[in-house]
Amino acid sequence: MHIPYCAAKCPYCDFNSIAGRDAEHQDYVEALICEVRRLPRGPYRTVFIGGGTPTLLSPGLLARFCSAVRDHIDLTPDYEWTCEANPGSADAERFQVLAEHGVNRFSLGIQSTHDHHLKFLGRVHDHRQAEVALDLARSIVPRVSADLIMGLPGQTIAELDADLALYRRHELGHASVYHLTYEPGTEFHARRSRGELADIEADESRRQFIHVWEGLESLGLNLYETSNFSRKGEESRHNLAYWTRRDYQAAGAGAVSTVERKRLTRLKHSGQYIQAIRAGEPAIAKTERLTDAEILREAWMLGLRLANGVSIAELEELGDRSSRWRVRADALIGAGILWEDTGRLGLTKTGRPVQDEVTIYLLP
Ligand code: SF4
Repeated sequence: MHIPYCAAKCPYCDFNSIAGRDAEHQDYVEALICEVRRLPRGPYRTVFIGGGTPTLLSPGLLARFCSAVRDHIDLTPDYEWTCEANPGSADAERFQVLAEHGVNRFSLGIQSTHDHHLKFLGRVHDHRQAEVALDLARSIVPRVSADLIMGLPGQTIAELDADLALYRRHELGHASVYHLTYEPGTEFHARRSRGELADIEADESRRQFIHVWEGLESLGLNLYETSNFSRKGEESRHNLAYWTRRDYQAAGAGAVSTVERKRLTRLKHSGQYIQAIRAGEPAIAKTERLTDAEILREAWMLGLRLANGVSIAELEELGDRSSRWRVRADALIGAGILWEDTGRLGLTKTGRPVQDEVTIYLLP
C-alpha cells in the first residue's frame, strides 16, 4: 500500500515519491481507502505500507487509513504488518496510532549515523533524530528494521562500523543494506553525468559489502537475501513473498500487484490516481500477462538473491532442464562461486558480490 509523499525528494531516489503536495494527503487517503475496499478480503499473511514516507501523513489520516484496512481485509492470526517510517517524521503519536491499528513492524530509513553523509543524501533527519526514532520504535512494536546505505563517496570502513553499532545498541533484529546507485532521472545521476560524482571503485565496493555482511553476522543478523539480514525468524515475510514469487495485491499510486500471472501497475501520478479512483475507474497504467519465459527469468533472478538459493525442481517445473545450465553451473561450483545442496543452487560468499554477472551467465 503505497503512500508517495515525502518531506523532500532525496537526490538519489527513483521511487515513486514526491515532496510538497501536503494539501493532497486527505484526498489521496480517501482514494487509497476506496481502492483497498475493492480488494478481496483475504485473509492476508502480510501487509506493507511503504512509500514515500507513510509517517508524513497526520496521525488522524494514519488512523483513518489503518482502521479502513482493518475493517476491510482479514489477516491471518500470525500476520506481519510493516510500516515504513523516516526519523524526520517519526513521533510517538504516529507510532502509537499505527501500532494500535495492528502494525507490528517498523522499517526505518536510517541510512547513516553520520550527519555529513545524511546531508549528502539529502535526508531531512540527523543522527540524533534517528537514535530517538529507533528508541521509540523499539518501545512500541516487537520488530524493527533499519536501512543503511553503503558505497557513498568517501565513506570509510570505520564509519560503516559506527553504523553497524546501531544494530547492537538498539538490539535490532533486521537490517536492509543498499549500495548507492545512480538511477536515471535522479539528481545524482545528472551530477554523475556532469562529472561531479563518481562510483566508488569495484574493489572498495566489494570490501564494504563483505565487511558489512561479516559485521552484521557477528551481531547474529544473517544474510537471507542479497541486501537483507536478520536474526532467525525476523526475516521480512512480506518481501520473502515477492522473492518466492507468491501472489500479492496492491493499492496506491504506482503500486504493482501480481495475481495468477496478471501484473497490474497503477498510475504513478498521485493526482491522476485520485481522479481515476474518484471516477470509479481502476487507475491501472499497465497490464501485463507474464509469459512462461518471464516467470522463469524471475525464478532465476529472485532465487539467486536468496541465501537458500533457487530450487532445481522448480526450474524444471518451469521448463528449464538442467542440461541447459549444468555445464556452466558446474564450472561456477568448481570455482567456489555457487553451491549445490539438497536440490537447490545458490551463491557462496565468494559469489555473492558477483551476483549480477552469475545471474546473467545462467539465465536462459
Ligand atoms: S525519503 Fe525515501 S522515498 Fe522519500 S525521497 Fe527520500 S529515499 Fe525517496
